[in-house]
Amino acid sequence: DNNQLKDIISHAKEYGFVFPSSEIYDGLAAVYDYGQYGVELKNNLKNLWWKSMTQLHGNIVGIDAAIFMHPLTWKASGHVDGFSDPMIDNKDSQKRYRADQLLEAKAEQYEAAGQPEKAQALLAEMGRLLGAEDLEAVKQLIISEGIVCQISGTANWTDVRQFNLMFSTQVGSVAEDANTIYLRPETAQGIFVNFLNVQKTGRMKIPFGIAQIGKAFRNEIVARQFIFRMREFEQMEMQFFVRPGTQMQWYEHWRETRRTWHEALGVPASKLKFHIHEKLAHYADAAVDIEFQFPFGFKEIEGIHSRTDFDLRNHQELSKKKMQYFDNDLDENGKPYGNYIPYVVETSVGADRLFLATLCNAYTNETTGEGAEQKTRTFLKFHPAIAPVKAAILPITKKDGLPEKALAIFDDLRLDFNIIYEEKDSIGKRYTRQDLIGTPFCVAIDYQTLEDDTVTIRYRDTTEQERLPISALREKLAYETSF
Ligand code: ATP
Repeated sequence: DNNQLKDIISHAKEYGFVFPSSEIYDGLAAVYDYGQYGVELKNNLKNLWWKSMTQLHGNIVGIDAAIFMHPLTWKASGHVDGFSDPMIDNKDSQKRYRADQLLEAKAEQYEAAGQPEKAQALLAEMGRLLGAEDLEAVKQLIISEGIVCQISGTANWTDVRQFNLMFSTQVGSVAEDANTIYLRPETAQGIFVNFLNVQKTGRMKIPFGIAQIGKAFRNEIVARQFIFRMREFEQMEMQFFVRPGTQMQWYEHWRETRRTWHEALGVPASKLKFHIHEKLAHYADAAVDIEFQFPFGFKEIEGIHSRTDFDLRNHQELSKKKMQYFDNDLDENGKPYGNYIPYVVETSVGADRLFLATLCNAYTNETTGEGAEQKTRTFLKFHPAIAPVKAAILPITKKDGLPEKALAIFDDLRLDFNIIYEEKDSIGKRYTRQDLIGTPFCVAIDYQTLEDDTVTIRYRDTTEQERLPISALREKLAYETSF
């Protein structure tokens, strides 16, 4: 529900995870900044993805391509001609909408009203009309469905126009058409244009993959739902190059591998769903989304696409450079497969959407006790491997040598783990603060510590405490925070 999203947004701001961009100027729509805990969480998610792609796969390597690319890149990829969304304005309220989102919202209303056939029929009709680029008919459909502007309640619409989502800018100091370049709307193309560089220098044999994490930019028509849809965001993409004809087998492999990965991060299977695309993007022969159950419904966090040889073939055509691979493995007749343009299966996940899913999944309000004794505890139940802070080192008082003892423990561990030391306020208040930022372990140093070198470790999820020798802390934290 929307109240839960509101709570999460304000929690994210109040506790240093996500701030509106340029907030002192009232923010900038669909752009956000990550705060001190947010950046740790996001880095942990990115590192985990990076390691599970590159370190755990002998046949996947990473690159870091530039955001700016030669303009022909986007001609070849189809983005110049086809990367657009249908937009429509309401003339009275002067509000802008995405035509497909208006119709999807209407379909959701049918669904909620127990009319799934009507919802299905509407979506199918929309898909057909958009596929045929019949924008006038899309407008008529919006009118005949009686869709009104939420704000003014009127149905006075402009025509539907296609709006290209790419941001453009000028290189050099002369503003000429030839100098127009785009901010990349996806990271994938940086991988395609480097395919042979990596294959040759890394002596990669098919099947192999190239992974990349980086910023992407889309001039989204409607900014909604916090960091779910941003104009500047980060993608984590892996393009897996395969022999033509084997793409379906790899598509299924990656679909399962990626779902398992999300579950290993602590997302229950019930909150994940596959959504198979019936209407395929121009480059794909099969596509599936992994959807997460956000407070506003099941929505895409990751796409797995079988992109065929669409991209490499078009780059070959426009660049006049061969994009081929020589496969000396033998086919069933004992002959080498020889030269071909590889097919590509990609996995593409938004770091920010994954961050939001992680935050929604972790956000917990737990009520205990009855009547006047009733208490609610809010905490972020992150998997310890991704929690921004792994442990807080807390002397129970500020005197009698406890801070010194605690600081010695802190100094001994801080190089290996992102931990914090705190001595201000009561121990209860400090526990609460750590709960709110999702720190899985609190280590308390008390008078007994001075006698026998043991500490208590408090677990965030159960609030249970356990006594442990100081000498066991490093191994304990290493074990608990591993993935
Ligand atoms: P949507 O249908 O939600 O616009 P898409 O199908 O266009 O997304 P892809 O082009 O498949 O998305 O991009 C791959 C991933 O990149 C998405 O699964 C999502 O996690 C992320 N992503 C795409 N657009 C945005 C955005 N505007 N803000 C944040 N993340 C995004």
